[in-house]
Amino acid sequence: LARTDLAFVLHPQTDPALLEVEGPMILDHGNGVFVTDSSGRTYLEGMSSLWCAALGFNEPRLARAAAEQIARLGTYHTFNRRSNPAVIDLAERLVALSPMPDGKAIFANSGSEAVDTMIKLAWLYHSGRGAPERRKIISRRRAYHGSTVLGATLSGIPSMRGAFAWPDPGVLFAEAPHFYTGGKAGESEEEFADRLVGDIAAMIEAEGAQSIAAMIAEPVMGAGGVILPPASYFPKLAALLRGHGILLLSDEVICGFGRTGEWFGCQAFGFRPDMMSVAKALSSGYQPIGATLLSAEVHEVVRAEASRLGVLGHGFTYAGHPVTSAVALETLKIYEEMDLLARVRALAPAFRAHVGALASHPLVGDARAVGLIGAVELVADRATRRPFAASDGVGTRLIALALEQGLILRNLGDTIAICPPLVIAPAELDLLFTRLRQALDALSDTLAAIPQ
Ligand code: PMP
Repeated sequence: LARTDLAFVLHPQTDPALLEVEGPMILDHGNGVFVTDSSGRTYLEGMSSLWCAALGFNEPRLARAAAEQIARLGTYHTFNRRSNPAVIDLAERLVALSPMPDGKAIFANSGSEAVDTMIKLAWLYHSGRGAPERRKIISRRRAYHGSTVLGATLSGIPSMRGAFAWPDPGVLFAEAPHFYTGGKAGESEEEFADRLVGDIAAMIEAEGAQSIAAMIAEPVMGAGGVILPPASYFPKLAALLRGHGILLLSDEVICGFGRTGEWFGCQAFGFRPDMMSVAKALSSGYQPIGATLLSAEVHEVVRAEASRLGVLGHGFTYAGHPVTSAVALETLKIYEEMDLLARVRALAPAFRAHVGALASHPLVGDARAVGLIGAVELVADRATRRPFAASDGVGTRLIALALEQGLILRNLGDTIAICPPLVIAPAELDLLFTRLRQALDALSDTLAAIPQ
């Protein structure tokens, strides 16, 4: 009999009333891109389980790496004035992969903490340059940058900010670069990008560049709805910010490690950040890990400032954790051995074709993909792009129907995200999209049965 945990825990990110009825799905074991629940039903995990498990769900080398490291130095040792071979090797590889030559890594335990660290270091950087008043951060509507108070404050998703954002935090919000919903009639994607970057220029002008420390952005906004920016958006934005001495922070928690067909999303979208946050696929989901990567220039200033202050007053108990570092190191080794970028690039055309084929489905308004991340956006009226009423819960219904087909996906409102493990085989990719189409057809049938 399936066990549930509702007597003991409060589940985040879920409608509590729905859970009372359905309970959470209890996962028992995995095999490649498939997971099996406690009732014995097997599902294709089309989301890498929250954008994480790039190597799927039973990679034996990761299990061995963890076991061997625990046998060697136990379950923990501090990174404060200590180090360990696993984290040293990991840092070396990570910095070598980074698009910021001669940069450095600083470890954390999660994406949220890597983002927090990035903001602290942006402040420290400006303080080191004699401009401690540069504190404001530019973020974007629909952005998601974590669940700590700072993450919520930077978030542009109402449910994440709502009760949790720090009051008057000095965060400025720019438009999300979503052409499908934000583009004006007759506007090209490039004109749209110019308009958005122009709005940010005006915002900087109005606030005063001297009050702004940094802008944080995901190359592809994940939780905000898998939003792919126009090609010219980031190169122009980066040039604008650089001209004002505003740091550009790339949140690569979802985009990092091959997801877009490049090692990092910033490389796929044409910009060089000053810092990046990474987590999730860094260890194929094993925790605790996250890291902030710094450019050589940022590092130099931050280091000098920390020396001046006598200490870098920042650090998490589990950062540089030997066991997670060993697992992350093994993950990066596997990526290199499997020639990850070549693999993603080989699969990407089929992935894009599958997503593109759904664009003609009567419920799909927009279908988009890069590398192995994509989405279909469901609309009530394709001609006018009119969305469904939120109360229809169409996205939630679609993923419930996908589950019936043996496919796990995630809905972000009425946008259905697709982010399979990077080890997915071509035939499994076909299966994913066969099941998604079946779910869409089933949803069409249920909607047709209800008078609109
Ligand atoms: N940034 C981005 C872009 C994310 O997608 C997430 C998590 N989904 C985070 C930060 C926060 O990461 P974590 O949940 O590991 O704290």
